[in-house]
Amino acid sequence: MQIQLSRANFATWLKNSRLVEKKDDTMVVALPNNFTKTWVENKYQKHLLGIIRNFDGSVRKIEFVVGGKYFTPVEERPAQEAGGIDLDFKTDPETGLNPKYRLSSFVVGPSNELAFAAATAITEAVGKKYNPFFVYGGVGLGKTHLVQGIGNEVLMKYKGRLKPKYVSSEQYTRDIVWGLRNDRIESIKKKYRDVDVLIIDDIQFIGGKEKTEEEFFHTFNALYENNKQIIISSDRPPQSLPVLEDRLRSRFEGGLIADISYPEFEMRVAIIKSKLDEMNRSLSDAVVALIAKRLRKNIRELEGVLKKIIFLQERKQTEVTEKMAEEIIDKATKSNTKHVNDTQIIKAVADFFNLTVEDIVSHTRRKEIVEPRQIAIYLLRDISDLSYPYIGEKLGRDHTTAIHSYEKISHEINKDPGLNQKILMIKDLIFKN
Ligand code: ADP
Ligand code: MG
Repeated sequence: MQIQLSRANFATWLKNSRLVEKKDDTMVVALPNNFTKTWVENKYQKHLLGIIRNFDGSVRKIEFVVGGKYFTPVEERPAQEAGGIDLDFKTDPETGLNPKYRLSSFVVGPSNELAFAAATAITEAVGKKYNPFFVYGGVGLGKTHLVQGIGNEVLMKYKGRLKPKYVSSEQYTRDIVWGLRNDRIESIKKKYRDVDVLIIDDIQFIGGKEKTEEEFFHTFNALYENNKQIIISSDRPPQSLPVLEDRLRSRFEGGLIADISYPEFEMRVAIIKSKLDEMNRSLSDAVVALIAKRLRKNIRELEGVLKKIIFLQERKQTEVTEKMAEEIIDKATKSNTKHVNDTQIIKAVADFFNLTVEDIVSHTRRKEIVEPRQIAIYLLRDISDLSYPYIGEKLGRDHTTAIHSYEKISHEINKDPGLNQKILMIKDLIFKN
C-alpha cells in the first residue's frame, strides 16, 4: 500500500495500521481510531484485500478493529538533523507553477475528497473528464495547493508534452489590461490560449472589469472547443459569484463543481503530522492535538502556528510543552477570533430568515422554521463549540435533536451550495456586528 498510495495518504490512513491476527479466512487489521477505521474500511478495503491475498490466498475477508489490545504504538522516528524549516521552492515564471505544491503532499479526508478525486482523474485524462473543473472553498483550505498540484502533476506525468499554465485572476486581469493599453492584446491572447491546461485561481477577483471578463469568456471558449482543460478556483460557488455574467456562470456549471470544506479534527492532526514530516521535525502528541484542537478553520493559519512552535523548540533546544504551545496559539489567534455569544448567533439566524428569536426557540414544526432552527444549532456548535445538551436546552430541544440537526446541516452543506452560501452570509452577519 505504501508504494501505491501517495505519501500523505499513506501517512494519514495506513501508517499506524497493524496486521494483528488471522482467524480462519479473516485477516484482522487494527487501526488507531474509529475515524481511520471508517475511512480505511470504505476506501481501501478492496485494495488491501487484494494485496493480502497475494501473500496468502486463503484470506477472504478483512475485519477492522480499533486499537485496543492489538495496538502497539509506532516507535519514535530517529532524531532528525537540523535544517531550514521552509524548503526553498521557486515559482516557474513560464508556467506559474511552484513545485512545492504536490498532489502527493495533499492530505485527503472527508472535507476535500471529491475535489481531490476529480483532480487526480483530471491528470489522467486531461481535458476529457471534468472540464471545466471548478473548485471552491474558504480561505486557507487548500484550493491553491490543489490546483497547483494538478499543474505540477501534469508537468511531470506528460514530461513537457502537455503545457499547463497557472495564473491568479489578478495577474490575468493585469495582463489583459496591459495588453489593451499597449496594443499587445494579441500576444497576451496567444499566451493564454496556447496551453493545454489553464488554471485560474481565485476567479472571484476577476469580475467587474468588463473587458477582462469578455476576454476570459473568449479564451474559455477557445480552450474548451479544443478540448483543453480549464481549472478554476473560487471562494464561493458559481451561482454566488455576483459579478460574473450569466453566460460565464453557466459554462462553469456545465463541468464539475467540487467544494473543499473545513477539515475534521483527525484530518487536522494528519495535516500537522505530514507537515512535520516534510520539515523533518517532531512535536509531542499532546502539542499536535492541541494545535489541531485550536486551529479549526484555516490550514494556512494552522501551518503558521506550527512553524512558530517549531521555531521556539529549536531556539530553546527543549521540547515545547502544551503550556508554551498554548501561549503561542493564544497570541496568534487572539486578533481574529471575535467572541460572540449564543444570543447573537440565534438573532442573526432569525434576522437572516426574517423570523424572530421566539420563532426559532418555539416548538413549532412549521417547515419554514425547522431549517433556520437547524442552522442555528449548527452555528452554535460550529462557532462556539457549545455542548449538545447546552444547545438543546437553549432551543428547548433535547440533545439528540441538537446532534441530529448539527449532523444534518454539516452533511448537506457539502452537497448544497445554496445552503453553504446561506450559512456564509449568516456568519458575515454574526461577525460584522
Ligand atoms: P487557499 O488557496 O484555499 O486559500 P492554500 O492552498 O493556499 O489555500 O492552502 C493554505 C496552506 O495549507 C498551504 O500551505 C497548503 O499547502 C496547506 N494545505 C491546505 N490543504 C492541505 C491539505 N489537504 N494537505 C496538506 N496541506 C494543505
Ligand atoms: Mg489560494
